[in-house]
Amino acid sequence: MSRPRDGTVTTSSDRSATMITRPRELHRLCAHIRETRRFGLDTEFVMEDVYEPELCLVQVAATDGVYLIDSKESLDLTPLWELVSDPQIETVLHAGQEDLALCVHAVNQPPRNIFDVQIAAGLLTSNYPLSLSKLVQQKLHIKLHKSQTLTDWRKRPLSEDQLLYASEDVAYLLPLHDKLTARLKKLGRTEWAREEFAAFERIDLYQRPPEAQLARVKGTGSLHGAALVAALDLMQWREQLADRLNRPARAVLKDHLLVEIAKHGWSKPEQVRSLRGLNLRKDHINDLCGVLVRSAEKPPAPKSAHRTVRAEHPLDAVLVPLLTSVLRSEAARLDIAYGLLATKQGIADVVEPFVDGRLDSLERVPGLLSGWRGEVVGRTLRKVLSGSWTVQVDPAGNGSPLRFCKPSDKPARKASSAGPASLSGEDDNAEDAAAAGAPGAP
Ligand SMILES: [Zn+2]
Repeated sequence: MSRPRDGTVTTSSDRSATMITRPRELHRLCAHIRETRRFGLDTEFVMEDVYEPELCLVQVAATDGVYLIDSKESLDLTPLWELVSDPQIETVLHAGQEDLALCVHAVNQPPRNIFDVQIAAGLLTSNYPLSLSKLVQQKLHIKLHKSQTLTDWRKRPLSEDQLLYASEDVAYLLPLHDKLTARLKKLGRTEWAREEFAAFERIDLYQRPPEAQLARVKGTGSLHGAALVAALDLMQWREQLADRLNRPARAVLKDHLLVEIAKHGWSKPEQVRSLRGLNLRKDHINDLCGVLVRSAEKPPAPKSAHRTVRAEHPLDAVLVPLLTSVLRSEAARLDIAYGLLATKQGIADVVEPFVDGRLDSLERVPGLLSGWRGEVVGRTLRKVLSGSWTVQVDPAGNGSPLRFCKPSDKPARKASSAGPASLSGEDDNAEDAAAAGAPGAP
């Protein structure tokens, strides 16, 4: 089906989507959203062979239906992006960080009042991350069509199938939002979600400093000194050239070639030209060599300046897995996504002050010991780390097989014949007595 003149397309779910190609229609839609104060948003873009993701279609679910905004029609989408950064208006998305990045790049303002249904679901079930179709099926009992991940959203006219998939990507966001919000409220987890969504409002989420970008260039982890400085300069030069040519950065200069040039500090065109797989024009090779010459004049970077990896302490090898197990067990008990609760870095941040004997600084550790995470697992982590609670295997614990208690407590029911996995013993204080058998206890 091609796009009918009246701009209405019918999708299989008895819904019709309105195609928007003109500024006047877009303004009308945005005015409607301003009144109703909420909308669902998804975008389709292509980023395979370009530098900046090329936005092809924007889907909006307003309270009166689905709208497909054709961003190939050189429409100015500013009025829509302004809604996303308006704290009065709630924007509902599924795994929305990339969509929001497009918005930030367009209006250079942080998104506000975001609700991500994938994250909300992760605070309600340990199965995470759930695809949109799984989530819609689970929560609303509606089966979506198979999505077309390889479809070319640049072609016009869009096919009937493409229009259908595009509509389905937003059609259920508002009903999902309502279901999930009610459930979060019921379990007292509304504040957890609010904290998670606040992370979308930090503009640095969408802007990576060069050092962090370099960490994503393969093979740079082992660089230091002059080679690290050269790699950083080369990477920034590559970004600028890629932007100018509108090509992906890695298509301009592959990661391993960048690392090779930086390692050797090659600044003569004949050295660079001999590299196998190099695909640069003569003038670009000359520019590149200029970058290397200037890099060589800078003072060398301190060792691993772009990563703050602490030398591994022998205790890390024991404590990181221990806390990982504790957290996995707690995530299962709470029925939340482990991936939302903890990260490797978050666990390392908790272990580090302990290993270094700076227990007092545990209070200032962000992540696991603060906010909603601190509320649900902070105490357990502190007690286990300080030795005032033991970790016991509870064979009847099913998904959450660990329980935590004072060393003097009796082992959890009949543990194994070898006895419970007791991992610490230190005396308890009055607070512990009150907390005996607290989290995880039957
Ligand atoms: Zn989509």
